[in-house]
Amino acid sequence: MFSFSKKIITVCVLLVLILVVTFWLGRSHDVEQATYQAERQVTQLNNYIDTELARFSAIPQLLTYNSLMIDFVDAQPQHYNAINNYLADIQQASGASDIFVLNTQGEVIASSNWQADYTFLGSNFAFRPYFKRAFAGEKVAYFALGMRSKERGIYFSQAVYRDNKAIGVVVLKVNVSKFEDDRELLNTSKGSHFFLQLADEVIAMSDMQTWRLNSFTELDITMRRDIKSRRAYLDHQPLYIKQFQFSNEGIKHLKIDKKLYVMSQRPLRYFNATMNVLVDITKVNSAQLPRLFWVFIICSLVIIISYILLTRFAGYKKLVYSRHSLELEVLERTQALEKVQTALVQSAKLATIGQLSAGINHEINQPLSAINTYLASAKRLLAKGNTSALGESLVVIEGLVNRVHQIVGQLKHFSKPSKMQLRPYPLAGLVNNALMISSAQLKQDNVQVEPPQFDETVVVWVDSLKFEQVLVNLITNASQAMNGAIIRNLSFQLECFEERVKLSILDTGSGIEQHAFGNLFEPFYSTKSSKGLGLGLSISKQIIDSFNGCLSAHNRVEGGAEFIISLSNRQENKDD
Ligand code: ADP
Repeated sequence: MFSFSKKIITVCVLLVLILVVTFWLGRSHDVEQATYQAERQVTQLNNYIDTELARFSAIPQLLTYNSLMIDFVDAQPQHYNAINNYLADIQQASGASDIFVLNTQGEVIASSNWQADYTFLGSNFAFRPYFKRAFAGEKVAYFALGMRSKERGIYFSQAVYRDNKAIGVVVLKVNVSKFEDDRELLNTSKGSHFFLQLADEVIAMSDMQTWRLNSFTELDITMRRDIKSRRAYLDHQPLYIKQFQFSNEGIKHLKIDKKLYVMSQRPLRYFNATMNVLVDITKVNSAQLPRLFWVFIICSLVIIISYILLTRFAGYKKLVYSRHSLELEVLERTQALEKVQTALVQSAKLATIGQLSAGINHEINQPLSAINTYLASAKRLLAKGNTSALGESLVVIEGLVNRVHQIVGQLKHFSKPSKMQLRPYPLAGLVNNALMISSAQLKQDNVQVEPPQFDETVVVWVDSLKFEQVLVNLITNASQAMNGAIIRNLSFQLECFEERVKLSILDTGSGIEQHAFGNLFEPFYSTKSSKGLGLGLSISKQIIDSFNGCLSAHNRVEGGAEFIISLSNRQENKDD
């Protein structure tokens, strides 16, 4: 895993790389666009100048075919004014600077400017190449400075023939400043320059005045001598314009006066010269700044968003992982707990069997002890021959035997609750029966019983045997709780309401232990160590609940416990 600082360095390096690539791509794009612009402009300029030159070059040709012109050149003085006017008209209509005619000696015999101060009439241009070459039969287009006007111009010349013999030359001159001016109309000058370079490396025309008639090439002595001899530029010697040219990725660059240009060149069709267009790319580097700014902003946003998403994803992955491991842990612990619980249940079962045996033993021992006592008494009565008392004892014994049956039968309560037979019973009789059954225990614990003085009319809707079982359990518990107490008093209280009866069994024993309150009515809860089964109160509560009653307990302020049974004194629907 990368540390945080390493990550930051990686991101920064990446960002710088992206910016560098953006810069170079943007720069290349802009240079390409500038080159495209230069090419478009050079094509446009060439088309325009070529069309113009073609138009001008056709005029001397037409004039040489004109019979009037041929006659004039042949027999010169006859139509002097008429020819001059004719040339002036053509010059005006075509937009040429001058049109003039030379005889075989190179003298101007007719000229469109015949009325002007600077008229060529009478001048001799025999030394001019446009005369010599035309007279030799060539169709000439020639750049030179005007002798008188000193203006740059292109001279188109062609010989006039009679009977296949050259008898003169027609010359048309166009000022190149016309193209320089027209070029502005073409709207190609924004952020760009152009120059027309002749075969001798001299710049014939350009929108830059300082470049005109000068050269981007350092002319050697031979070239200069040649220029001087031709006198095309009269006495002007072309100056060298300092610049630096180089090619980058196939694109020609030119650096001049701290400015950088891309250059596109194309030769003219009707003139031996090359048109060059330069598009300014000096600010191409600084032009990348806005682009770099936006790329930087976008990249930063992408990095920030990616970081947030990755952090969230990592958090989510961690959450899923920890949830998964938590689930596994829970599963493992559950399995472990299940094992422990199985082991616990097993040992609890064994403990329960032990407790149950002890409990059953204890519960059945009470009536059996009572039977024993009554049997001893019965033997004594038999020996005395007191048959009536003997009969009473036997009835009691019979009752106690039935009691044992009932107790054993109650154990079925946990597996299969027996069907209840709720009937109205006088409460006093039920309490007395329970006291009689518990008498042996009460006697053993030396407990003083305050017999209940209940009205015989007070009835409760119960199953008598089960209710007696509850009472016996509560009385026995009370008796055992008083074992060891100084005052051992068992008493009953009765409160009657319109529909319910509230019976309290009060003792003066140790009271219920505080911690026992929560579990008192839970099965198998006992504080009597091996002696207690812990089922008495649990069964009692179930029985009272089935009477639609309520069994509760609390400690008395004066000491001892109070168990309260609340029951209905009339028949209710719930009697199952
Ligand atoms: P067992 O008598 O077998 O212990 P019970 O369900 O009858 O089972 O009683 C549960 C526990 O309730 C007793 O162990 C004892 O702690 C407490 N208890 C019941 N009756 C009294 C009472 N009258 N005084 C004090 N504690 C009592």
